[in-house]
Amino acid sequence: MSVEETYQQMKAKLSGIVPDFELRYKAELADEINRLKVERNAVILGHNYMEPALYNSIPDYTGDSLELSRKAAQTDKDIIVFCGVRFMAETAKILNPGKTVLLPAEKAGCSLAASITAEDVRKLKAQFPGVPVVTYVNTYADVKAESDVCCTSSNAAAVVEWLGTDTVIFLPDEYLAKNVARETGKHIIFPTLTPGQDATELDYQLIGWHGRCEVHEKFTVEDIAAVRQQFPDVVILTHPECSPEVVAASDFSGGTKAMIQYVERTSAPRYLLLTECAMGDNIAAANPDKDMLRLCSVRCPHMNQITLEDTLASLKYTQYVIEVPEDIRVRAAKAVERMIAIG
Ligand code: SF4
Repeated sequence: MSVEETYQQMKAKLSGIVPDFELRYKAELADEINRLKVERNAVILGHNYMEPALYNSIPDYTGDSLELSRKAAQTDKDIIVFCGVRFMAETAKILNPGKTVLLPAEKAGCSLAASITAEDVRKLKAQFPGVPVVTYVNTYADVKAESDVCCTSSNAAAVVEWLGTDTVIFLPDEYLAKNVARETGKHIIFPTLTPGQDATELDYQLIGWHGRCEVHEKFTVEDIAAVRQQFPDVVILTHPECSPEVVAASDFSGGTKAMIQYVERTSAPRYLLLTECAMGDNIAAANPDKDMLRLCSVRCPHMNQITLEDTLASLKYTQYVIEVPEDIRVRAAKAVERMIAIG
């Protein structure tokens, strides 16, 4: 495909979302990346939170953490370039120890992944012996290695039910844990938030942690009330990393994929997505016939570090290579593979 064809393809999806001069410049970068990708026998995975020009030009596969983990597990390419954040690239490496996994921006982290360490999990396991540990996929490899099974926002409740135990340690997202507790009818405690309390005497079935997504924690019930006042017929979708109060005030809550499918399958006068900005842009681009309110104010600063320029440099200079120590990888792989099997 020529640069002009790449530009025309991007323009068909993104005019009105990305300014034309930016599209022309980015089409040149995308064209170079796509040529290099073939030369180096690489596959590019693009998370839904990638900026629209990147998302709509270079990934071979797009999706949420779970979908991309599946693609990473199936690829026969030599190199996996992960346009997402570090924990996602680590998950790809966990599933593909023999392949080179690249993350275009070295410091693309995540507030949830940074909220907990492997040592924290070991302490919780000592405090609640025998209780199975579920960790959100938004964690680093050494934390996954301490877990029995991982989950994503789309299958968190199913994973908790699948365990079939009376009690579960669910880490590290406080809001996702509360939303799962509500969905599964379980009671939840946060040992780290209730100092001095004897947790063993409480009536609980979920043990949580105090991590939060710095993007989704920003949405409030007041935001929803203000939008509903102005647009009474709006359908509001929230991500389960939002607070339970925000989720309760919305019309639908689901993981990234569930939100996309909801917009595709329903017909409402207008939609508002309370989630990461770029994802809102990408859903708007994929559904030009739907009326999407654009109140974007929260861009994930970690996802925002992944650019076309850095992706090009990543392929050119083989940077930044993700490594996971083998003893950690083997243990983490069990938890991730269980998550993928549950679906
Ligand atoms: S949007 Fe939230 S959960 Fe996702 S990478 Fe950014 S900080 Fe982490």
